[in-house]
Amino acid sequence: MTTKKVPSDPAASPLDPQDWSAFRDRAHSLLDQCLTQMETARDHPWQAPPEDAAARYAIGKGGDLMTRITDDVLPFHGGNTHPRFWGWVQGAGLASDFLAGMVAAALNANCGGRNHGANEMERAVIDWTRRKMGYPDGASGVLVTGTSQATVIALQAARVRAQGNLRSEGTLPGYTFYAREGVHNAARKAIELLGVGHKALRLIPVQDGRMDVAALRARILKDRAAGHRPLAIIGTAGSVDVGAYDDLNALADVARDTGLWLHVDGAFGAWTRLADAPWRTLTDGIDRADSIALDFHKWMSVGYDCGLALIRDEADHRAAFAARPAYLQGADQGLAGGDPWFCDYGIDLSRGNRAIKVWCALEMFGEEAFADAITRNCRQAALMGREAQARGMAVLAPVVSNVCVFTADPALDPADQSRLNAAIAEELQLSGQAVFSTTLVDGVTCLRAAIVNHRTTDADVIAALEAVVQANGSVG
Ligand SMILES: *Cc1c(COP(=O)(O)O)cnc(C)c1O
Repeated sequence: MTTKKVPSDPAASPLDPQDWSAFRDRAHSLLDQCLTQMETARDHPWQAPPEDAAARYAIGKGGDLMTRITDDVLPFHGGNTHPRFWGWVQGAGLASDFLAGMVAAALNANCGGRNHGANEMERAVIDWTRRKMGYPDGASGVLVTGTSQATVIALQAARVRAQGNLRSEGTLPGYTFYAREGVHNAARKAIELLGVGHKALRLIPVQDGRMDVAALRARILKDRAAGHRPLAIIGTAGSVDVGAYDDLNALADVARDTGLWLHVDGAFGAWTRLADAPWRTLTDGIDRADSIALDFHKWMSVGYDCGLALIRDEADHRAAFAARPAYLQGADQGLAGGDPWFCDYGIDLSRGNRAIKVWCALEMFGEEAFADAITRNCRQAALMGREAQARGMAVLAPVVSNVCVFTADPALDPADQSRLNAAIAEELQLSGQAVFSTTLVDGVTCLRAAIVNHRTTDADVIAALEAVVQANGSVG
């Protein structure tokens, strides 16, 4: 496809296709190719980018763009679309993303505010999520890149509630935050970004998979006595390393008794709210939190990126971010109408339409299909634990939700186990058989599966464990 042709009509845009009909044909065939790639995701595990990747992607290389997409772009993806991808916590994507992406491209919506359909769609998505989390009518939210950004937004709202003049005067010294040991690094990063310094994040020990509430209370009292300003408790619903849940009701009690803000990191784990029992009850109490950060791009499977900052009281949310200089004045009618404007709820002014991915997904598959997929993943993590043990491996933490951590050969000493597990993870990734990541549990680098993958079948779980056994024989 020629993209550099100078328009023969000097009035025509140089940035629209010169020949829409030819472009349409090429775009249709690319669409078909992309649909096929998703339909056959099982045939497309991760593969390492080629040696000459930098040259292939170089800007200005020229050549036929569609051919470059076929040869250089589509094959070298991150692998998370594959049914045996369980590394880190990554969503697998949905066919509805094709619909969302096409419409998003056609409309090029800017969802910072004003009066147009995309904002209404975002309100609908937030309202649906608010109800799933048990939040009241007066809650508010904003779609963001992901939980990392949502955490910044939530903690800033917490701080403005605690210090009414923060926006004009800057921060008082001495704010402190509380989270379990093993809290996701996003919390620490958010605190750093707020200019507080991450020493202010007090890491509370974990007991039986939950933040030790007595230790939490004691630490808050001790900090107060020392002149600090305890600000917020960060509860975890689905810990990144082992998928554990804090007792959110207990944390809400502490927050109530001490006057602290309760924020919940529910990046993936908040979605067990949709699952069957017993997983559904893991998040009990989440409706009592002052804020929740969660992702649609992990367990809700929509295309990257899409997360949500949800704030229980809209007034807290607005107080932290709203500002309307002259060039952003609203109006009762016309394009400058519409309320609220999402720029009043977060960092971004210009923002794309992330909601359309969620909206298309829920309307195409229905909420029940997501609930089923999430329940199935929890069952599969439990299956993985049982089947790993049946093959002589050891599970290193209770499988409470969708995460299974295990070591291939518990008879070895910890350092050798760690080397073996890391080598197995690498071998299975390189051979395209399965993607586990690794994490450290009780001093052992273990294999870790966080199953947020709607394409995973029980047979995939078994086949991957067989591959681990095989790899243990070859790399061990
Ligand atoms: C992924 C994750 C985050 C960070 O979310 P992003 O969407 O990657 O920004 C935070 N907390 C937990 C528990 C996570 O799994």
